[in-house]
Amino acid sequence: MKKYSFFFVYELAALVDGFAGDQSSYNYIDWSNPAITKRLRHFSKDTILHHFIYQIISTYQYERAKVDGDTIACYEKEKIEILETAFHEYSIAVEPYSLYLARATGDYRNHGYPVDCYLPWYENNKDSFNNLWMTLTPEVFHILFPNRSFLLKFNLGLAQYLTSGKVKLPSELLTSKGFIKRDKTFPAWLKKAVYFREHGRCIFCEVDLSGLLSTDRQIHYDHMVPLARFGVNDPANIQLLCQACNLKKLMGEGSTSTRYAAWWD
Ligand SMILES: [Zn+2]
Repeated sequence: MKKYSFFFVYELAALVDGFAGDQSSYNYIDWSNPAITKRLRHFSKDTILHHFIYQIISTYQYERAKVDGDTIACYEKEKIEILETAFHEYSIAVEPYSLYLARATGDYRNHGYPVDCYLPWYENNKDSFNNLWMTLTPEVFHILFPNRSFLLKFNLGLAQYLTSGKVKLPSELLTSKGFIKRDKTFPAWLKKAVYFREHGRCIFCEVDLSGLLSTDRQIHYDHMVPLARFGVNDPANIQLLCQACNLKKLMGEGSTSTRYAAWWD
């Protein structure tokens, strides 16, 4: 079990949801890092979606500190309070903003910043901020992973980006047709997670695949956006289907279901 505080996290999840629909957001993925591109080819617990969440929330918060429209963002009591409470909530050490203000005298003015601008505070405490975004990333993931509509939007956005020619992937990741190679080792932890998320049912026809009272159900772990449509081997691209529904879907577009097992009827 994990301890999650969910402080500040819904706002960040909404942010990531919004950015997933915008093609330029996928520029923030660190495409030059082989450890990241490898995740397209091989299922990793540290998913591409985790990386995307981290990149979006850290970049967005830094940009917010840097500019506010055309001007440098200055002291906003509410914003500073939220950040300081988050540091406190997650037990991450940071120089208190009030202390920073007390010692930030002419130095920052000389660099063209007003003294109550919080960008220098952010930059002086970059490790603390990075630590905060890394700590919040799994909580944002926890909220977004059950939401298949979001996952489809993310995977379609990623597939579109990969076909745009903006990124050149290492050839060992690709088939001769330029698709991501299939990862044939389907890890047990991923099967369990997807099975648990879908409550053991095919997400399309909703047949019970648990096999408790029948033996003729075959479970298929399906790529929401197929590899042949530039989908990737990321856990966030996998869903549970029965054999019949998977065979119907095989060559189709990326698709999912927006129906969920309710907590009660
Ligand atoms: Zn089905």
